[in-house]
Amino acid sequence: MSTDATPSRPVVTRFAPSPTGRLHIGGARTALFNWALARGAGGLFLLRVEDTDQARSSDASTRQILDSLSWLGIDWDEGPAFQADGRSLGGDARGVGPFHQSERLHLYKAACDRLLESGRAYYAFETSEELDAKRKEAMAAKRQYRYDRAALDIPEAERARRAASGEPHVVRFRMPDEPVVVRDAIRGEVTLQPEDLEDFVIVKADGFPTYHFAVVVDDEGMGVTHVVRGQEHLSNTPKHVALQAAMGYSTPTYAHLPLIFNQDGSKMSKRDKDKVAREACKAKGVQTPPLGAVGEADFQAWIADSKSQLPLDALEDLARSLEVDLPEIDVTDFREAGYLPEVVCNYIALLGWSPGDDVEKFDQAFLCERLSLDRIGKTNAKFDRNKLLAFNNDAITEMSPETFAARWRHWCERHMPEIPDRVAGEAFVTLAEAVRPRSKTLRDAGRAASFVLTPTDAIHYDEGAVTKWLAKNDGEGYGALEAMRDRLDALASFDQASIHACIEAFAQEKELGMGKVAQPLRVAMTGSAVSPPIDATLAVLGKDVVIARIKRLLASRA
Ligand code: GLU
Repeated sequence: MSTDATPSRPVVTRFAPSPTGRLHIGGARTALFNWALARGAGGLFLLRVEDTDQARSSDASTRQILDSLSWLGIDWDEGPAFQADGRSLGGDARGVGPFHQSERLHLYKAACDRLLESGRAYYAFETSEELDAKRKEAMAAKRQYRYDRAALDIPEAERARRAASGEPHVVRFRMPDEPVVVRDAIRGEVTLQPEDLEDFVIVKADGFPTYHFAVVVDDEGMGVTHVVRGQEHLSNTPKHVALQAAMGYSTPTYAHLPLIFNQDGSKMSKRDKDKVAREACKAKGVQTPPLGAVGEADFQAWIADSKSQLPLDALEDLARSLEVDLPEIDVTDFREAGYLPEVVCNYIALLGWSPGDDVEKFDQAFLCERLSLDRIGKTNAKFDRNKLLAFNNDAITEMSPETFAARWRHWCERHMPEIPDRVAGEAFVTLAEAVRPRSKTLRDAGRAASFVLTPTDAIHYDEGAVTKWLAKNDGEGYGALEAMRDRLDALASFDQASIHACIEAFAQEKELGMGKVAQPLRVAMTGSAVSPPIDATLAVLGKDVVIARIKRLLASRA
């Protein structure tokens, strides 16, 4: 299946999120593929906000989704206006907007009127209780439930009169009596028999279109040529194809992407976060909720029931107070955890697609050039966190020091702004290089650098480290520390190279291994025997802080 543009019909793809939460990583893959197909074909990529579920949609969610997309480097030609890094995204060059479905109700109304007039749609008046009862009846008789078209027994004129008089009603689409054929670029052809199809609702009792109806009207109205979406939508497609035929619309090329699962085959969802947080509570013996995270009763119910879920905010508060990392599910999670957007795009592009020739690492330009529907597989994809982490680690390792410092600073400004506030200018670059070697993510680097934030008088000394590196051998370490206090204090320039030379000179003079000087200093600076290279650690903290920290440890000597 190709996605070639023709002069008469340029490729138009779309991403159509429902703004009911954050952008799931699976949604990001859908957006990426649509974007890359449009870019590769010189076509248009548009963004449509499917907000007809008024109760669950929010502007905050829309903003967050747009923000996640632009962070990933996915830009849209048409759609809601959005400012990203000085660029304006969105707009309506062809005049096919607006791009929020809630602003397109007049279009759905006109389309519905046409279907009613042609007899391909009809008013139905059953209440949800009546429908539930029929559904239960079918279940009891082990029959598959299908709407029984009872409304069609009411004469048409009477249906119209009752609807006009304001009696609560829905509008149903009259499914054709012939089979419906769905052609999918990935999954081939599927034929559905009339008995498998039901007269589904196209306009709800509140006057809003259903998803099925709005999506079909909009794909036509926006000239969408390729609908690429998750496989969970495959069962909806016969409805869409039947509607298109009834309305005289063209049917776009459909491609349903394989599902994405965890390694253990479970669905990647928020439940994974509940699970990890619940297990952490049990492992740490937490029996009452940490202050502020969640109410006592909700907490107990959640701990007791492994299927229950806490609201996301509460869960995140809980995780913070337990100091556990929740598994990343949404794009914002990966961003916060310090993954690089280009690495996330590279990795998720491999979920269901491969460029062949054992190529696994590529940039977005390569993806746009090479992505084609005929290399997307049918098999469910498994999300391999270790592989993503390894990709991220490789990307961090390969960066120049300047690039890494700039990228890390950018991350810090959003997630740990105290670090660049505390360490400015050249010292920030020194710090970045000092923490980079053991950092697979930008957050790892942030954590490795957090020693700069601890106030000197709040440092907690690890007892084992104090015994081993200071007290042992009649306080040999304390002695080294005293001498280093004076030597460091006397340094004219407190840069990394001068500090290094100073430590080395002392170690040589006293015939001590470097560790015997560096480790006592580490304990003084961080409370533990772990820190980035000691010269960089001291340079970043600055002379005053270094001397103050040495003095404090010396004063604590029992
Ligand atoms: N609004 C739908 C969703 O968020 C997308 C529908 C589609 O792509 O056709 O799942």
